[in-house]
Amino acid sequence: MRTLVINHPLVAHKVTRLRRTETSSATFRLLAEELVTLLAYEATDALRVEPVEITTPVAKTMGVEMATPLPIVVPILRAGMGMLNGMMKLMPTAEVGFLGMVRDETTLTATTYADRLPQDLRDRQVFVLDPMLATGGTLVAAIDLLLERGARDVTAICLLAAPEGVRRLEEAFADRDVEVTIVTAALDERLNEKGYIVPGLGDAGDRLYGSAE
Ligand code: URA
Repeated sequence: MRTLVINHPLVAHKVTRLRRTETSSATFRLLAEELVTLLAYEATDALRVEPVEITTPVAKTMGVEMATPLPIVVPILRAGMGMLNGMMKLMPTAEVGFLGMVRDETTLTATTYADRLPQDLRDRQVFVLDPMLATGGTLVAAIDLLLERGARDVTAICLLAAPEGVRRLEEAFADRDVEVTIVTAALDERLNEKGYIVPGLGDAGDRLYGSAE
């Protein structure tokens, strides 16, 4: 398993603004979108492409285009939706699937409540969007489902990650014959007793959309 923590001044600047309590939801959404576009650039470093012959105004030449089957982007509802536009800016022709996972705040376990994904994910590169890699329960459950459907190359893009979550993913996938990559803007200190990332940014869904139940 690969973990990429993106070390870039623009990423660090935007993460800092995202963390601040006083950042409004409107600004938070904008920052999250911009950050995901920057992370997506790194997360697609092994994107599959195939050669294509093209004609410029001057000559014929060879280029590349995204290989088929096209990659699929999977935001985890609800907070992952705040990352979708930023990802699609970079890969507008990718397909999009949706996975609704909810975390029980007492047991911290994840269950699936919505699944709009193809049954067959063989040969598909999958990009999962989940802003907070905390305990890792949600992401492990989501990636397990993708692997059950035949995916073998899964990249999770997270705004922030906790060491506990990264370890949990390593334990779950390191010894399996699959490519799992985590791309994050920051690896934070730890989780607190409520499962929140410290220093973190609070509840990503609430920061993006307010706390309506
Ligand atoms: N989910 C969040 O939204 N924030 C955290 O800090 C941890 C999990």
